[in-house]
Amino acid sequence: MTLAFPKFHRNSRALVKRYLTPALYERLALLKTETGFTLDAAIQSGLKNQDSHIGIYAGDAHAYSLFSEILNPIIHEYHAVKETFAHDPGLDQTHLPPLDPDKAFILSSRVRVARNIKGFSFPCHITAGNRNLVESLVSDAIKKIPQDLAGSYLGFKRIPPCEIQDLLTKKQVFPAGDRFQDAAGINRDFPDARGIFTSRDKKFMIWVNEEDHLRIISMESSSDISGVFNRLCRGLDYLSTCLEFAWDKKQGFLTSCPTNIGTAMRAGVHIRLEKLEKNPNILNQLVNQNHLQIRGTSGEKTTVDGAIFDISNTQRLGISGTRIIQNLHTGVAEIIAAEKKL
Ligand code: ADP
Ligand code: MG
Repeated sequence: MTLAFPKFHRNSRALVKRYLTPALYERLALLKTETGFTLDAAIQSGLKNQDSHIGIYAGDAHAYSLFSEILNPIIHEYHAVKETFAHDPGLDQTHLPPLDPDKAFILSSRVRVARNIKGFSFPCHITAGNRNLVESLVSDAIKKIPQDLAGSYLGFKRIPPCEIQDLLTKKQVFPAGDRFQDAAGINRDFPDARGIFTSRDKKFMIWVNEEDHLRIISMESSSDISGVFNRLCRGLDYLSTCLEFAWDKKQGFLTSCPTNIGTAMRAGVHIRLEKLEKNPNILNQLVNQNHLQIRGTSGEKTTVDGAIFDISNTQRLGISGTRIIQNLHTGVAEIIAAEKKL
């Protein structure tokens, strides 16, 4: 049996389109991972969205080895690593001074890591029953979280529909994923088995069954990126004692999207840059030379509103979490200096 070579949109610049040759497709198309995930399922998002940047998602940990011929070149290009890279697990506390103590530019700092529980398919391929099990495992794990991180879990299914909009505005629930995640199958059965754990001080959160099983988040309305990171490390240390995560020695933590593997960490600030917004060449140069990226105010693939940029690291693999924080600190300090100068 042969399958027809998939037709990407002629304008698509997705990395999966660039690297998927007919010969490679023929080699991989009939393979199935141990949970039954296929290449055709993996590339749905790239096929349905002509503006995809990557266009391929992993349905389980095994996909990273079974489909390595297509995933590896994409991983090397996105993370700017050569074949010889190695996952660097370093998560040493940092003690960098707050970037903007007068709160003139930075509104908030946020660090998150993505994690998936070993032995379960990832969100684009998980069954409804296993998704429920993932939610139970996380709910059990947080029962004994250290006191200063303790809080409560809100399962979205329990929320009356009339209250959802208000909670969305307050960011106390996350919305169903965008059309890229939707095409990949991540939004199936939303909001079942989705929820957010929030610490009492609202600075530590766990999103359950969003793009990955867990998005572990530390954030606060300050520029103390070190403090935010150190809190994340403490929560992560605890969770790692009671949950076993999908992991590979070379590729680090394995996630739905290949752009997240490795540390699976995104550290960033929401920063108001009224002058640099009018000088995008300067801002883009500073962002690129510091290996940073710009996202919109409401997250990936949204617009920048009121000159509030989300500036965060691009590389997550072959670099330690600690180094990501140090680089972010250096890059954002340069951006603030440039904004002040204009
Ligand atoms: P990720 O995939 O890393 O979790 P997204 O781009 O999907 O990030 O954004 C998720 C949510 O987090 C969005 O609502 C976004 O506005 C919010 N967010 C991201 N960075 C910050 C920040 N530094 N401060 C406040 N909110 C943030
Ligand atoms: Mg996201």
